[in-house]
Amino acid sequence: MKIGFNKPFLTGKETKYISEAVASGKISGNGMFTKKCHAFFERNYGIQKALLTTSCTDALEMAAILLNVEEGDEVIMPSYTFVSTANAFVLRGASIVFADSSQYNPNLDVSLIEELITSKTKAIVVVHYAGIACDMDPILELSRKHDLFIVEDAAQSIDSYYKGKALGSIGHLSTFSFHETKNVISGEGGLLGINDEYFNERSEIIWEKGTNRSAFFRGEIDKYGWVDIGSSFLPSEVIAAFLYAQLEQLKVIQEKRKKIWNRYQELLGPLEEKGFLNLPSIPEYATNNAHMFYILLSSIEQRNAMIEFLKNDGINAVFHYISLHGSPFYRDKHDGRDLPNADRYTNTLLRLPMYYELEISEVEFIVDSIKRFFNE
Ligand SMILES: *Cc1c(COP(=O)(O)O)cnc(C)c1O
Repeated sequence: MKIGFNKPFLTGKETKYISEAVASGKISGNGMFTKKCHAFFERNYGIQKALLTTSCTDALEMAAILLNVEEGDEVIMPSYTFVSTANAFVLRGASIVFADSSQYNPNLDVSLIEELITSKTKAIVVVHYAGIACDMDPILELSRKHDLFIVEDAAQSIDSYYKGKALGSIGHLSTFSFHETKNVISGEGGLLGINDEYFNERSEIIWEKGTNRSAFFRGEIDKYGWVDIGSSFLPSEVIAAFLYAQLEQLKVIQEKRKKIWNRYQELLGPLEEKGFLNLPSIPEYATNNAHMFYILLSSIEQRNAMIEFLKNDGINAVFHYISLHGSPFYRDKHDGRDLPNADRYTNTLLRLPMYYELEISEVEFIVDSIKRFFNE
């Protein structure tokens, strides 16, 4: 048996919608399928305004531009995250102040944030790791008290909630990813969520290479030109058509993924009770969107031995982020604080295969292999 880590799921309608986009004669960006995708996020998730982007990385770069992040600004974020979360702000000249993860899951430890805030702090970027919400109420409180922007890196968080509010609808800005490893995909793709009207007009300008082209095509102005900085952040209709076929099937995708996730949880529970490993912990304020199933082992040696052991059984399980404060690019720029929980997740977290077409019998086989590793 060979079980890969990820397998992109196709709903079957992707090529049909792409053909429709091609036949319509309009395949550049901001056409019919792009508008359908925007409406999906605005209607279903209470995101005030949505803009498709070519990646979550691009959406994060748009967020940094929209917030006027510049040299001398500080941005607080977890160290245990994907490089783009930080890189987008570094591109604008900001210094990154990395915060440690919580003891309970890789999300920011909220109790450590306030002491990191200085007069230079411009924004806090939260990452809802594995689609599990960060504790947003105290973070919003800090935002009000210290006049800071909140960006949600919701790359993994489609269809997940914090106290009944959709992730991506809570911060001033939010970013999603449709990379082929996420729940809903378009190969490469992303989305910027804007939850403060203050950013509406400028977000469209940055999206369209610094021009007011979107307003022109709506007939609001009689000519368009270069009015701000920007880039080519919008994807073509081909990408949007693919994505819309996926969004239409979101419920089906989510149900299947949750079934797989719950089976892992059920079968691995006894190993956690016996103290062999730890399973994801989901706070009562958060829902689970079954983006990822991870286990926590006791050391990097044990984690790497587990990867090898599973590989011998044909199973591809993978580690995840290497904390950014220790990265070759940032370690000289980091202020030197130890971030023990971020390091612990770097060393001990292992992601198990998790994708729509994974069979329950395969989940059982994977869990059997993990049990054999522990001689159980
Ligand atoms: C996947 C991911 C990204 C990057 O998404 P792209 O669409 O590949 O740019 C950023 N942040 C987090 C937390 C992610 O999981």
